[in-house]
Amino acid sequence: MSAPRLEIRLDRIHHNARTLVQRLAARGISVTGITKATLGSPEVASELLRAGVTSIGDSRIENIEAMRLAGVSSTMTLIRSPMLSQADQVVAHAEVSLNSELDVIARLSTAAAEQQRTHGVVLMVELGDLREGILPGDLDAVVRQTLRFPGIALRGIGTNLACQSGVAPDERNMAELSALATSLESTFGIGLDVVSGGNSANLDWAFGAPDVGRINDLRLGEAILLGREPLQRRPIDGLHTDAFTLVAEVIESKTKPSLAWGAIHQTAFGRQSAGPDRGDTARVILAIGRQDVDPAGLEAPAGLAILGASSDHLVVDAGRFPPAVGSEVAFQLNYSALLAAMTSPFVSRVFTRGSCDDERTS
Ligand SMILES: *Cc1c(COP(=O)(O)O)cnc(C)c1O
Repeated sequence: MSAPRLEIRLDRIHHNARTLVQRLAARGISVTGITKATLGSPEVASELLRAGVTSIGDSRIENIEAMRLAGVSSTMTLIRSPMLSQADQVVAHAEVSLNSELDVIARLSTAAAEQQRTHGVVLMVELGDLREGILPGDLDAVVRQTLRFPGIALRGIGTNLACQSGVAPDERNMAELSALATSLESTFGIGLDVVSGGNSANLDWAFGAPDVGRINDLRLGEAILLGREPLQRRPIDGLHTDAFTLVAEVIESKTKPSLAWGAIHQTAFGRQSAGPDRGDTARVILAIGRQDVDPAGLEAPAGLAILGASSDHLVVDAGRFPPAVGSEVAFQLNYSALLAAMTSPFVSRVFTRGSCDDERTS
């Protein structure tokens, strides 16, 4: 098999999605499965739908288009505010988009009229994380305008926390979102189908809060794919954290001094701190680098330690049992490493549903 490659266990992704869908259903919350960290993988999207997510969301309209072409037929939500320059594409391929600018909604309305479609809009509310969202005080005015646009259906409101400033979803900000939904409904005499409380960072709140209020949707990526909540990156009880494995091939394996020699200046990626002198050590180079992955987000297998990475080389301290040239090393990935590996044209993907042994025992 070619390297580098991502080995993707669809059975583990299915288990994670299904478990979260069931746990959240008990709280009256449905799940929008977010595929952006997989470059809009149709295989992953289909698995999420089989596991019970109600729809698929992605941050790039190109990914949504690709999933559509591959036959994924669920409702698709564009979760990043559409670019004005892509409004036509957004209306053509996504049923819903998350929005925070009237100029964008106006353009979506024009595109919807031209294409004789209705486009659903979820208005994003700023609740403190300072990424996307309408300030709560401006929400009434934006809703009033949104309701006037032909071809636009106001589907609901949402918020996104923990992405820009690390603000945690909690009872206070979630109650504020619920109250805004209720107040908009009475002010405008409308019903809001969707009150989308946030992303994987909302899970602690969703499982712990005495009352989830009006929140009836979460948009989940990381928790499903990596089995962790993003606030502290703790594994979520009962989920797999190893659905993805990155495999790279050894291209050099030698014993070398542990300290560099010569006049030391910057490296290609800034300064490299010198470690202690440990005499001669086994150093291995793997054919993978910053073009393919965020090296800081890789977890090496026991006995190996990552020393550094440049564009195309990952240098590893191989301890006492250095792998031979041509052999393969498998790494676990965090979100940042997964995102990069999934979007590198040099990293191939192999989808599996577990080994024969797993199938026999499960
Ligand atoms: C990325 C993203 C999500 C999903 O976040 P995870 O932490 O991966 O669950 C949800 N909503 C928006 C707006 C996003 O950008």
